[in-house]
Amino acid sequence: MNRTNKKNADRSVSRIGDDYMIIVMKPSSSEEHINEILRVLQSLGLGAHLSKGSQVTIIGVIGDKRVLNDVPIDLMPGVDKIVPIVESYKLVSKTFKPEASVIDVDGVKIGGKEIVMMAGPCAIENKEQIFQTARAVKKSGAKFLRGGAFKPRTSPYAFQGLEEEGLKLIYEAAHENDLKIVSEVISERTVEIADKYVDVFQIGARNVQNFHLLREVGKAGKPVVLKRGPATTIEEWLNAAEYIVSEGNDKVILCERGIRTFETATRNTLDISAVPVVKAQSHLPIIIDPSHAAGKAQYVIPMAKAAIAAGADGLIVEVHPQPRHALSDASQQLIPEAFDKLCKDISLMAEILEREFKYGD
Ligand code: PEP
Ligand code: MN
Repeated sequence: MNRTNKKNADRSVSRIGDDYMIIVMKPSSSEEHINEILRVLQSLGLGAHLSKGSQVTIIGVIGDKRVLNDVPIDLMPGVDKIVPIVESYKLVSKTFKPEASVIDVDGVKIGGKEIVMMAGPCAIENKEQIFQTARAVKKSGAKFLRGGAFKPRTSPYAFQGLEEEGLKLIYEAAHENDLKIVSEVISERTVEIADKYVDVFQIGARNVQNFHLLREVGKAGKPVVLKRGPATTIEEWLNAAEYIVSEGNDKVILCERGIRTFETATRNTLDISAVPVVKAQSHLPIIIDPSHAAGKAQYVIPMAKAAIAAGADGLIVEVHPQPRHALSDASQQLIPEAFDKLCKDISLMAEILEREFKYGD
């Protein structure tokens, strides 16, 4: 999207969000046909968002489409049909982009055939802990090291994270083991700090509807893992993703981590159905966090396997060398040996499911 279009898009999306339609081009349409439509839309002050699939190109039109009343776009060369997007979210919808998005984080692709494993402690606690975990999860097949430096805790007196010191440690540990980094940001200031160290920002469950923060990570342009909130509907969650994408950052990975229900045997209830529902409604990849859903280490592995069986694109799992001594989420973190067994099992499942996962480093 060029600058003018993006400016129009921002203004129009917030002004008349429902006035969004797509122009579906014929498979035989040419680059010239597409450019001519973009030119007409621009001359009418409309924003455009281009989505090129392997079969068809789709042009999303943003703005007050009444200006098109006298312009027979549907008769222009190369146009197949015009379809309104009825969902409240637009750019993340499957109508807008029927093909699954694959998000490339420096060579690690999320949303394709590969099952991507992200693992690490709830919080970065010290050098020994993060290095030990990094070595272990790498050996089992993880591609990402996770670890919080800014911890959003229920109690203000609980451990709040090592902040930038922690990010320096996870950076060293990840780079020594050829792992990518995913870590949570909780404010504009922490986005600026974390930007120097992480490959992927994590937006935690508590901030899924912090719209200002969503726009900030949208502007930052880096891939984002967007957790679902404990009481967020799938529609609200996809609208949260829309906030990020509408800022021009389409590298959003959705993450289901359990929702709050009447059940108290587990910390949250993992909504496995979110996987096929999201896949039906959006082109964005979806991963599962079985750790915060289960809340107890003994339930993490079965939940993780169920997520992969349901079609999740990856997992983010809490692993700690000594969970009992962890400064946060002690009861749900796996010991490295348990994580290793999970990875072995996932590699067997991958064969049956025609996915890819390489067990071992
Ligand atoms: C976390 O990943 O450590 C975390 C706090 O997760 P959530 O936001 O899902 O509770
Ligand atoms: Mn945690």
